[in-house]
Amino acid sequence: MPNYFALIPAAGYGSRMENQLPKQYLTLAARPMIYHAVKTLCQSHKITRVFVVLSPQDPEWQKYDWDEFSDKLTVLYCGGETRAQSVLNGLAAVPRQFTVEPNDWVLVHDAARPLLMQSQLNQLMDELAGDPVGGLLAVPVADTLKRSDANNYVRQTESREHLWQAQTPQMFRYQTLVDALNKTIHMNITDDASAIEAMGLRPRLVHCKDYNFKITYPQDLELAKLIIQKRRPQ
Ligand code: C5P
Repeated sequence: MPNYFALIPAAGYGSRMENQLPKQYLTLAARPMIYHAVKTLCQSHKITRVFVVLSPQDPEWQKYDWDEFSDKLTVLYCGGETRAQSVLNGLAAVPRQFTVEPNDWVLVHDAARPLLMQSQLNQLMDELAGDPVGGLLAVPVADTLKRSDANNYVRQTESREHLWQAQTPQMFRYQTLVDALNKTIHMNITDDASAIEAMGLRPRLVHCKDYNFKITYPQDLELAKLIIQKRRPQ
């Protein structure tokens, strides 16, 4: 049976948040944002190890107490210039410390998606367990889509049929993902599935039915605070 590993790329700066602090450390429900993703992944019984990929110069991580996750969590200070490079560096570092089989599953999850729930994580792992390639959480596009010119005038309306917004976790076989990222590292890819697709493989989309948006703008953080508050047992 393959093992399940999780890898959280957290070496970005989050420039669109308009804050000096990298967004993964902004406060959400009295914790740094990344705490929520770490907790959900560490609490999964199926996942044997969780890796966090930080920038080599990260000054923030050590300011917090991570002891509650010490049996599962490993920190790797090997983040790169892009998300893809951070993921690839992390995947390359794992076998130096742990045994990984080529067929083991890796779930890559953005530090900036703190709302992932255990139920969505289980759904992803259950639906993809027998899949030869793997896949990702995603939501069908709800709004009408406009393509613009450089001056923000509408050029045309795009059909939203069969269009999805890709989320994370994205779950692929260890060796396939390493090979795919190595081959596409010169390209401008923004998720792991794109690298897999470039190999001619077809990831499966698993419909995520709860909030799992990425915190990108200041207003996303405000909304996430309300959602976490509402989810808490009264
Ligand atoms: O910038 P964006 O929101 O797309 O980043 C998605 C995830 O990738 C975040 O968790 C971020 O910290 C991570 N990332 C990274 N290394 C980079 C850029 C982004 O680990 N160089």
